[in-house]
Amino acid sequence: MAVYAAAAAVLAGVESRQGSIKGLVYGSRFQNVKQLYALVCETQRYSAVLDAVIASAGLLGAEKKLRPHLAKVLVYELLLGRGFRGGGGRWKPLLERHQARLKAELARLKVHRGVSRNEDLLEVGTRPGPASQVPRFVRVNTLKTCPHDVIDYFKRQGFSYQGRASSLEELRALKGKRFLLDPLLPELLVFPVQTDLHQHPLYQAGHLILQDKASCLPAMLLAPPPGAHVIDACAAPGNKASHLAALLKNQGKIFAFDLDAKRVASMATLLARAGVSCCELAEKDFLAVSPSDQRYCQVQYILLDPSCSGSGMLSRQLEEPGAGTPSQERLRALAGFQQRALCHALTFPSLRRLVYSMCSLCQEENEDVVQEALQQSPGTFRLLPSPPGPIEALALSPVPSTACGPLLRPRSLVASSLLFLNG
Ligand code: SAM
Repeated sequence: MAVYAAAAAVLAGVESRQGSIKGLVYGSRFQNVKQLYALVCETQRYSAVLDAVIASAGLLGAEKKLRPHLAKVLVYELLLGRGFRGGGGRWKPLLERHQARLKAELARLKVHRGVSRNEDLLEVGTRPGPASQVPRFVRVNTLKTCPHDVIDYFKRQGFSYQGRASSLEELRALKGKRFLLDPLLPELLVFPVQTDLHQHPLYQAGHLILQDKASCLPAMLLAPPPGAHVIDACAAPGNKASHLAALLKNQGKIFAFDLDAKRVASMATLLARAGVSCCELAEKDFLAVSPSDQRYCQVQYILLDPSCSGSGMLSRQLEEPGAGTPSQERLRALAGFQQRALCHALTFPSLRRLVYSMCSLCQEENEDVVQEALQQSPGTFRLLPSPPGPIEALALSPVPSTACGPLLRPRSLVASSLLFLNG
């Protein structure tokens, strides 16, 4: 599929809530995912501007065969992007017929809003903000290598290793080809925001997992020892499962469930690349997994990372500005499922520790769910504060505490990686 048709399909999927941009791009099977992702994100960022220009130029009325999402991508490319790629195919002449009118409408919009640059047409929340300045975190997959060897590899590639970070300032100041070791997680490297390691041989070989720091905290807090039996209740695409497998040193068992067939397939690929051999995958509703099944009689550890509003995800904020404010109806539906999943997880007979993990800043999905679950099984489990040390150290990130980010607000971090022990 050509890049423009693929981008239009992703935009349509996002609009009909079939998934996030990232999920749909990776599920699209388009070969150059990086190119597709960038095009979709940029088109989405300028969505309101493009809608206004397309409407006032009367493009869809004049070109009845042009579908709205495709029109948006093509007009983005024509007016705001780098011009048509690969010759633009059959769309180029069609769009060029309307070029003068589209350009005039864009200019009119700028005059109307009293701005001169395209970027100034964006709503404040869609301009690059602190979220786009968060460094890249890279987890070393200790099933395949060790931090020492990876650091050496990068040094040989001309990167400059700055040692273990000791302050937020050091992370904020990261630039060029410098990198650091995270102050909390010994296997987490930190690179400047512009670093893209998707094509890096160590990533391709499964030696590195591109995983945000916040996403590393749940497995770290669950801390199952080698040999343990663990349930990862909502596991796809498998980043946390691969982290759990690394902590288990591939000894023991992870039962990884997910409802979504496509996501289970991606998880199988990710785990195979990461060299995970202790994980049993099942395309299954976790709520239908029986706690009395003998297979799970030794499960002492559960990681519960259920679907949520994603209101705390930096990437979602960049892709879909405004994603931080889910409707009350959506929140109620999500919290209902989270509640059922948590109460269900707490009924596994040998369970000793559970981590409940959220990418949301909403109290309804965090504290409220946990309080309710504790009330429903009084005296069985107690809530532990997230160790070790101050929460701010766990969340060490260059984003100010008021900005949206996964687990970045101290209150939400407490609520977002919750630890239960049996009483
Ligand atoms: N833990 C994953 C990781 O680190 O890569 C991310 C999990 S994602 C936040 C939530 C997942 O829950 C989605 O893949 C979704 O398909 C799955 N899910 C939703 N409802 C489920 C259910 N009833 N049973 C199992 N999985 C479910």
